[in-house]
Amino acid sequence: MQYYGDYHTHSRYSDGQESVKRIADAARQRGLAEVAVTDHGPNVVVSGVKNLDCYYRVLEEIHGLEIPGVRVLAGAEANIIDLEGKLDIPPAVYEQLDVLICGLHPYSIPANIRDGYRLFGRNHLRHLGPGWRQKAVEANTRATVAALENNPVDILSHPGLFFEVDIEEVSRACVRENVLFEINCGHHHPELEDVKIAFKAGVTFIISSDAHFYDTVGELEYGRSLVEKLGIPAERIANCRVGGDKGWTGKRKQSKHW
Ligand SMILES: [Zn+2]
Ligand SMILES: [Zn+2]
Repeated sequence: MQYYGDYHTHSRYSDGQESVKRIADAARQRGLAEVAVTDHGPNVVVSGVKNLDCYYRVLEEIHGLEIPGVRVLAGAEANIIDLEGKLDIPPAVYEQLDVLICGLHPYSIPANIRDGYRLFGRNHLRHLGPGWRQKAVEANTRATVAALENNPVDILSHPGLFFEVDIEEVSRACVRENVLFEINCGHHHPELEDVKIAFKAGVTFIISSDAHFYDTVGELEYGRSLVEKLGIPAERIANCRVGGDKGWTGKRKQSKHW
């Protein structure tokens, strides 16, 4: 199978090591037709963008780029910051972008103290016993499903990483809301068993590098080997080339006002 794009990378504007131009160069080197720069939302401590203006700066930089053969897209990886699925990037900003990813991340500043405890606090306490763990899984699943229902998200990043979720329920929400289920090669996540569950539930996958360095842009080997092992067809993988170059078709592309 041939992969034509990588839609999850981080530049220096968040916790990546490279400039936007270097990410584009790396994508060209890998033979990709498209790459998206998707920096972390501001609410994740240390690794997030300093402020929302960073997304506009990425857009400007992309505008000035001339990298033959590679289309560079602007995006964001927003943090889910409460149980109702609120994101830390407002519509006024993400509507300007091509790709909206969301996910749960440790060290995120919650929308309010109550949900901070119910979501992030409980997650810390999950090791205390099965009851605690169950409560954490319920909260993580609820927040994730709500984020997909309440925002025009294109990709759910690394489902269940750091925050265990009911993978079947989350997969069903991805199908319902037309959100791509990510296989994240940077974190080698999810594991085969969870990918199997998601496949059975009917999701469309996307395989991403989650690159923070030049060398890992377009590094999709973990996902490639998983889908081959499970016999997942190219039609079920959004960034696989299936009979010609279809290119990125995200929700932000389809409509300005979702
Ligand atoms: Zn992430
Ligand atoms: Zn990421």
